[in-house]
Amino acid sequence: MISSVLPTYARAPLSFVRGEGPWLIEEGGDRYLDLGAGIAVCLLGHAHPALVKALEDQGRLLWHTSNLYRIPNQEALAARLVEATFADTVFFTNSGTEAIECAVKMARKHFSAKGEPERFRIISFEGSFHGRSAAAIAAAGSEKMVKGFGPVLPGFDVLPFGDRDALLAAIGPETAAILIEPIQGEGGIRVVPAETLRELRALCDQHGMLLILDEIQCGLGRTGKLFHHEWAGITPDIMTIAKGIGGGFPLGACLATEAAASGMGLGTHGSTYGGNPLACAIGLAVMDEVGAPGFLDAVSRTAGRLRQGLEGLVAAHPTVFEAVRGEGLMLGLKCVVPNTDVVGAGYGAHVLVVGAAENVVRLLPPLNLTEAEVDEGLRRLDAAASAIERAAANVVEPAE
Ligand SMILES: *Cc1c(COP(=O)(O)O)cnc(C)c1O
Repeated sequence: MISSVLPTYARAPLSFVRGEGPWLIEEGGDRYLDLGAGIAVCLLGHAHPALVKALEDQGRLLWHTSNLYRIPNQEALAARLVEATFADTVFFTNSGTEAIECAVKMARKHFSAKGEPERFRIISFEGSFHGRSAAAIAAAGSEKMVKGFGPVLPGFDVLPFGDRDALLAAIGPETAAILIEPIQGEGGIRVVPAETLRELRALCDQHGMLLILDEIQCGLGRTGKLFHHEWAGITPDIMTIAKGIGGGFPLGACLATEAAASGMGLGTHGSTYGGNPLACAIGLAVMDEVGAPGFLDAVSRTAGRLRQGLEGLVAAHPTVFEAVRGEGLMLGLKCVVPNTDVVGAGYGAHVLVVGAAENVVRLLPPLNLTEAEVDEGLRRLDAAASAIERAAANVVEPAE
C-alpha cells in the first residue's frame, strides 16, 4: 500500500522535533550536528533569535495580502537586493524552481519583445540541478529527472560540464542565454573556475546573450561574498536565489538587470504567495544578519578552518575519502567508499552531511558555525570514517 506521503524520497529513519543553532534534536533528546542545514537553507542555523523574532512580529501583524496590493516588506527586500547586487529589479517566489522558471521565461520574453522570438534556446550543463518543474528538468536534462514525464520542454542545449569546444559549437543564432550554477551543488560540488565565468560573461557580451547564474545553493554569503560570482569580478544579467534567503522559510527570487527584464511587463508573470509580507519579513532579517559588519569575513575564516580539518581527514582516512572540493562553506568530500556509507556512518556519529553526485558528500553548514562547532563536526566525521574503516576490517564492534 502506498504511504500517505507520496514515496518520492528514501528517508533516513531520523525525525527531529527541535533545532538550536546547528543542532537538530530528536524526540528522545538525541542531538545531531547539522552540517547540511536542510540543504543550504538554514543559513543561520535553526531557531535563530532574529529570525524567530521577525516571524513572530510579522506573524502577529499580517501574513498575506496577495500581489494585488503593494507590500512594503517586499519593496524593502527588493530594494535591499537591488542595492547589494547587479540587479535593478526582483521577482519573488516561494522556491528555487519557481525562480528558475521566471528566469527562463524572462530570457525568452526578452528576445521576443525585441522582435527576435526565434531566439529562445538556452545553453545549460550536464550535472546541473535547477529544480523539478518541466523547464528545470529540461535544463538539467538528466535521464533520471526527465524519463517518463513525456515530451521534454524544448529549447535547452545541455552541454558537457567544462567542455569549452562544445560550448563554442553550441552557440547559434537561436541562443538566448547561458544558464549555469557557479558551483554545482547536487552535481557534486563542482566549481566553475573564475576564469570560465569570465569567459562565459565575455561570450554572452559578444553574442548578445543573457548570462543567467543559478546561485540558489552557492549564494547568500555561502562562499564568503554575498554572491559567489563576485569572486570572478563579473555580473550576470539574471540570477536566481532561494534556499538561504529565507533561512528556512520558503522564499526565492529572480533578480535581473533592467535590460534583461525589459520584456516582463504587466501581466506577464505572477505568483499568489511570492513575496508575501511574512516571507519578506524573514528575508529582510536574513539580509540584516548576512550584511552585518564582519559576517562574511567570519564565513571565510570558518571555511578555512573547516577545509583544513577536512584535508586532515582525507589524509587520515585515505580508504574512505579521496579529496576535498568546493569553496567557502560549500564543501564536498569526494569519497572512496560509497557516499551513502559516509552519510550513514554520519548518522551513527550524530553528524549530518548530504550526498551529491560523483560520490561526494556535501557540507553546507549554517554560516554562523563557531570554531568549536567546526571542531566538533570534524571529530564526528573522523569518528564516522573510523567506523567505516573498522567495518571494512571486519572488526566486531564491542557491545556497549
Ligand atoms: C535547490 C536548488 C534548486 C531548486 O530549488 P527548490 O527550492 O527545491 O525548488 C535550483 N537550483 C539549485 C542550484 C539548487 O540547489
